[in-house]
Amino acid sequence: MTLTPLGLTRPASTTDAFLRQLVGRVQGASRPPWPLTEVYTGELLVELPQSSPADVEQAFAAARAAQRAWAATPVKQRLAVFKRAHTIFVDNARTVADLIQVESGKNRQMAIEETCDPPMVMSHYLKRAAKLLAPVRRGGPVPMLSSSTEIRQPKGVVGIIAPWNFPFATGISDALPALMAGNAVVLKPDNKTALSPLYGVQMLEEAGLPKGLFQVVCGEGPDVGPTLIDNADYVMFTGSTATGRVIGERAGRNLIGCCLELGGKNPMIVLDDADMAEVVSGAVFGAFGNTGQICMHIERIYLPESRYDEFKAAFVARAQGLDVRAAYEFGPEMGSLVSVDHMRRVKSHVDDAVAKGATVLCGGQPRPDLGPAFFEPTVLEGVTTDMLCGVTETFGPVVALHRYRSLDEAIALANDTDYGLNASVWSRNVEAARAVAARLESGNVNINDILATSFASKATPSGGFKNSGVGVRHGDPGLLKYTDAQNVAVLKKQVMGAKPGQDPEKYVTGMLSSLKLMRKLRIR
Ligand code: NAD
Repeated sequence: MTLTPLGLTRPASTTDAFLRQLVGRVQGASRPPWPLTEVYTGELLVELPQSSPADVEQAFAAARAAQRAWAATPVKQRLAVFKRAHTIFVDNARTVADLIQVESGKNRQMAIEETCDPPMVMSHYLKRAAKLLAPVRRGGPVPMLSSSTEIRQPKGVVGIIAPWNFPFATGISDALPALMAGNAVVLKPDNKTALSPLYGVQMLEEAGLPKGLFQVVCGEGPDVGPTLIDNADYVMFTGSTATGRVIGERAGRNLIGCCLELGGKNPMIVLDDADMAEVVSGAVFGAFGNTGQICMHIERIYLPESRYDEFKAAFVARAQGLDVRAAYEFGPEMGSLVSVDHMRRVKSHVDDAVAKGATVLCGGQPRPDLGPAFFEPTVLEGVTTDMLCGVTETFGPVVALHRYRSLDEAIALANDTDYGLNASVWSRNVEAARAVAARLESGNVNINDILATSFASKATPSGGFKNSGVGVRHGDPGLLKYTDAQNVAVLKKQVMGAKPGQDPEKYVTGMLSSLKLMRKLRIR
């Protein structure tokens, strides 16, 4: 591992004035501010205003007022805002990456890649939204004399609660289809990572999004979360499974819809014919990309007996040789964890595994010499389901290697989890890999890749099975979920039902035979 003294200078774009301007967008400041710190150094970046429940209510009132005019704006005009925004987002990607890095501690590569997500989502829905939102005329029950039109009405104000691991992507990308559909948005980012989404809102307003339509509130989840859910017409949540349950329960009580994108314990299955060089590179990204803080990243690797030793030697050597350090330029292959608290949680998973008999093949320790929240790339062997990291998401740069004797055993082990977010299958024989995919209980399966191929396929819905979530983002449902389907039906003449004085038996016979006829002629 390359050791470098800190000696860091904050990115030039992140001036105190710029950061103060960004946090000035937070609705309300009724609570004492929260110290938002630079992850690499632990130094204060800016005091983040904290909204109270009353501030959240005010944010909703302002959003609701702006939403009425926005919903009445023709779709084409609404979409024009996002055409302009696409250019602004791409042109300012480096500044976004600076903000993401100072607040999350991830390496430059991952920060830049994260900036690409909202433009990709915009680009997809710019092609698709007008079609999805156009009224669809359908036949009514009586041919010629009736019709029914499916009209997509915006829900109203969508509450979005976002995590810290991809703050810009989850804070902004999930808002885009909601806004295109005619909704307003109230976003609650994580306190640690509020800067990049605040800048995203600023860029959307520069592109012409009406002021007030996209509100941001900040605070601890349990303090502002309930008020946010109680005022929202729909909730989009990304975060842990434990918090997802709390959100889902409250949304259910309020009889509003919600989409819950939650955690994973994602397996990688290597088939015996796989290209080992590609597998090792894939596994390095899968386990250590974004410092192991990607919901779809890999925490369990299953290898056939015949390839286990070969993989283990190459993978451990790569993990030990990774360039891990704090830098605001390209170079480091892995950055910091997001906070000291999170680093301690990751360490507790490793310590628990070791205490219960797991072997550390490399890593396993914090690296305070690199920065307060750094943790070594860690490879474990002998992890079992009585260990914390054997069953629950660790969400750090920690991965366990397992041998399998038959593919049936590998699939059973991969499915032996309450989660079902992502799985990765590697083989030179794509059909064989597809056959494995069909048996995996997972919302995403990436063949010969870890996660990017499915996540970047914006036309295909993506979500979790089992405890990894409810609902999807991306694809047609990723926009339609932010709408209510209104059924406007027209009957030109009162022809349904018995005519006055008609013999009921004759009426019934006529109605039943018309059902048969319409079925036969495929009219209805
Ligand atoms: P978290 O659940 O602790 O927090 C997520 C958000 O919820 C934060 O903004 C937090 O302040 C808020 N929150 C916490 N308690 C709340 C409450 N009672 N009411 C309302 N809001 C509340 O998750 P985290 O630690 O920030 O993020 C990491 C988790 O997110 C991991 O489990 C990861 O797998 C998951 N994740 C999932 C996806 C996905 O698409 N499936 C994407 C990214 C992250």
